[in-house]
Amino acid sequence: MTIKQFVFNAFSENTYVVYDDTKECIIIDPGCYESSEKAELKKFIVDNNLTVTSLINTHCHIDHVLGNNFVKNEYGVGLTIHKLDIETLKANDVVASVYGFQAYEASEADFFIDESDQVKFGNSYFDVLFVPGHAKGHIALVNEHEKICIGGDVLFQQSIGRTDLPGGDFDTLMDSIKNKFFELPDDVTVYCGHGPSTNIGYEKQNNPFCGVVSN
Ligand SMILES: [Zn+2]
Ligand SMILES: [Zn+2]
Repeated sequence: MTIKQFVFNAFSENTYVVYDDTKECIIIDPGCYESSEKAELKKFIVDNNLTVTSLINTHCHIDHVLGNNFVKNEYGVGLTIHKLDIETLKANDVVASVYGFQAYEASEADFFIDESDQVKFGNSYFDVLFVPGHAKGHIALVNEHEKICIGGDVLFQQSIGRTDLPGGDFDTLMDSIKNKFFELPDDVTVYCGHGPSTNIGYEKQNNPFCGVVSN
């Protein structure tokens, strides 16, 4: 699998395109808002001859969904989210204007995924983890064999997702980190929703919010 990261919109949100040798790809959390950002995403898809087969939101905060409608229309794919984040998605009708995203175009969810489901594309797959706490219906996409976790806003390099937004809950987030993320092998790379990537082993030892977890 190859992972391409873009940094989009005023929240410096990480958008990921993941593809394999078959050139099929999935787009995760398209945060492209400005037309230049949409053009950058489109150019990458064209330049690499990719076929978009899925559009997935790890969760539906405004910074992760700004490009949903663009991707749906451009590539004819439905939107996949966790059912418990429908409210978060709908709230963006109001949230978008509060944050100044006047041109936000709302999209409905078309498909739902939950823990133990698999997302398939080309010859590749991701397992789905349900990791609430930052948002009610937050998921992560994991391939342990390839040592990849697309983690959204659960765990950051030496930080964690905020829990003060609607649907957030600190204890639930810590439970997701300790019982889901920290159960993954130490050498799994976490591709975060903001900022640089990290890995499980490093965060077990160095994340100030999680304490030092010994194996
Ligand atoms: Zn978020
Ligand atoms: Zn975010």
